[in-house]
Amino acid sequence: MNLKRYLLTPGPTPVPPETSLAMAQPILHHRSPVFMEILGQVREGLKYLFQTEQEVLILASTGTGAMEGAVANLLSLGDTALVVDGGKFGERWLALCNVYGIKVDRLAVEWGRAVDPQEVARRLDARPEIRAVFVQANETSTGVQHPVKQLAEVVTPRPNTVLVVDAISALGGYELPMDEWQLDVVVAGSQKAMMLPPGLAFAALSPKAWEFVKTSTLPKFYFDFSKQLKSQNKNQTPYTSAVTLVLGLQEVLARVKNEGLEKIFARNRKLSAATKAAVQAMGLELYAKDYPSVVLTAVLAPPGIDGQQVVARLREKYGIWIAGGQAQAKGKIFRLAHMGYIDELEILGTIGALEVVLNDLGYPVAPGVGLRAAQEILAKEA
Ligand SMILES: *Cc1c(COP(=O)(O)O)cnc(C)c1O
Repeated sequence: MNLKRYLLTPGPTPVPPETSLAMAQPILHHRSPVFMEILGQVREGLKYLFQTEQEVLILASTGTGAMEGAVANLLSLGDTALVVDGGKFGERWLALCNVYGIKVDRLAVEWGRAVDPQEVARRLDARPEIRAVFVQANETSTGVQHPVKQLAEVVTPRPNTVLVVDAISALGGYELPMDEWQLDVVVAGSQKAMMLPPGLAFAALSPKAWEFVKTSTLPKFYFDFSKQLKSQNKNQTPYTSAVTLVLGLQEVLARVKNEGLEKIFARNRKLSAATKAAVQAMGLELYAKDYPSVVLTAVLAPPGIDGQQVVARLREKYGIWIAGGQAQAKGKIFRLAHMGYIDELEILGTIGALEVVLNDLGYPVAPGVGLRAAQEILAKEA
């Protein structure tokens, strides 16, 4: 039988049907007045989502493209950067810096832990030549949120250093006001909390970060942020716009504006609390020891059970797609996402299914124990 599919992975995430329909429209020409008007609306909507007055660059790539662009546009050969490495995506900043010949001061953070802003301050004091601090807002591989607000408080007073935040799984999922918190660079992607298919990446830069761009000498072509900015100011993109995805983005931004960020964030907090309470009621532990993520829940698999088996069985028996662990966490954990177009029914269904699957695999769970914990939280008024 072809099972109905439920996508609860931390990217990609489900797309609302209205958004899919918007993307079914005939292809527009990217230099046509009608498309330029849409791009103008999208530029405004992105400012609301990023909570910034700065231009949000719209790139046709996955999130990693904007990460690469951030490195290539801010720094110069031989510069030094501090990289917070607390998971698979922290490692990506390291790899990017290495490729571009950036000297790296690696701040290793134990998986499941958040970075200590005081440690970042000590490193910056010790090495004033550090030009950029690279970090994840939400380290998707471990389900931990790094305290970027506090990191910004450390970095902002230093004129020689910018804070670059990979918010690919965070933006649109929880509070991350770029201007208010003085984040210098915020990078996002379409296929996580933004409810779109993969294929768009975003980057917004503070005035301080744009000053860094002026002096950067690293090579760049497609991901040249200055060229992108100049073009967007004319409601265009330098190369062919990803017109279909931009139509979807227009629909999503209208949806976000209509519901309001506050409500979206409150919903995610509630779904997160329900999911976390449910797995804990089943006797399971969260993988995150500090700042558990609001957009996904990473759970330690019970002793003797491989996390990948939980993932596979949910998929085979119920059509529910969750994620396993990556690299050193592979087999040790499984991860459930609750961001974007995910509702209470899907969370309750997944928790109920998880109870069955854990019993199947030999870990005893009293039927309904997780569901009850989740229901109690979901029943509370926001
Ligand atoms: C998904 C993700 C990425 C990578 O994004 P791609 O879209 O696959 O390039 C980077 N960082 C974080 C934190 C992510 O969750």
